[in-house]
Amino acid sequence: MTRYITTSWDDGHPCDRRLADLLGKYNLKGTFYIPQQNPGHRVMNETEIAELGHSFEIGGHTLGHRNLRRLSASEAHAEINGSFQWLRSLLQKDPVSFCPPYGAYSKRSLAEIYAAGFRVVRTVELLSPVQKTGVLPTTIQMFDHPPLTLFKHLLKRGRIRNLRLWINSRFAADTCRLVDHYLEFIATHGGCLHLWGHSWEIEDHRYWARLEDIFSAISTLPGFTYVENGQLAKTS
Ligand SMILES: [Zn+2]
Repeated sequence: MTRYITTSWDDGHPCDRRLADLLGKYNLKGTFYIPQQNPGHRVMNETEIAELGHSFEIGGHTLGHRNLRRLSASEAHAEINGSFQWLRSLLQKDPVSFCPPYGAYSKRSLAEIYAAGFRVVRTVELLSPVQKTGVLPTTIQMFDHPPLTLFKHLLKRGRIRNLRLWINSRFAADTCRLVDHYLEFIATHGGCLHLWGHSWEIEDHRYWARLEDIFSAISTLPGFTYVENGQLAKTS
């Protein structure tokens, strides 16, 4: 039975450096999905991104933080390929993982992402304890979603087993309670706990102390393997 813990952090905001320090303090692995620019939030400069890349995996997040479903085929191609080439030259190695902004992608963009050279696609599916390779769902977002939002999300995705598992938590919405519930399930049944979020959101909502409690709770657990998103790439 395999039990994984992975984390991912989107958008490349300068607060990612604080996040990286906290991950380092608890020996946790993480993947940072970074666009070249983002109309909504500040992005670290290239020197800072390359520096972060010495300790953590950096994944693609398009060039301009674009919604792939709203782009023409040629625009999507430019955003995805441009992201791969930009990270390759910045990091001096091929990036492995890609996260479509807003969780928005089509079958066509998925094919384009793989054709560009990426081998992992992280979605924004929540409350999944499943260990998958290739297209990775997530388990818990570092954000206080109301229980009704989580319920609707699970209904929309139509994953009955995930819905049942969440109902067993008595409709938990607090991130600490969710972490306890899914850790316990994965410890028994195997799977992957995937915690993700945005450092700008953690800063805005003052989640830092709670995030440190969670990092402490999920670190150095016997029987768990700590991986970057890219280590869950398909091997064949
Ligand atoms: Zn984003």
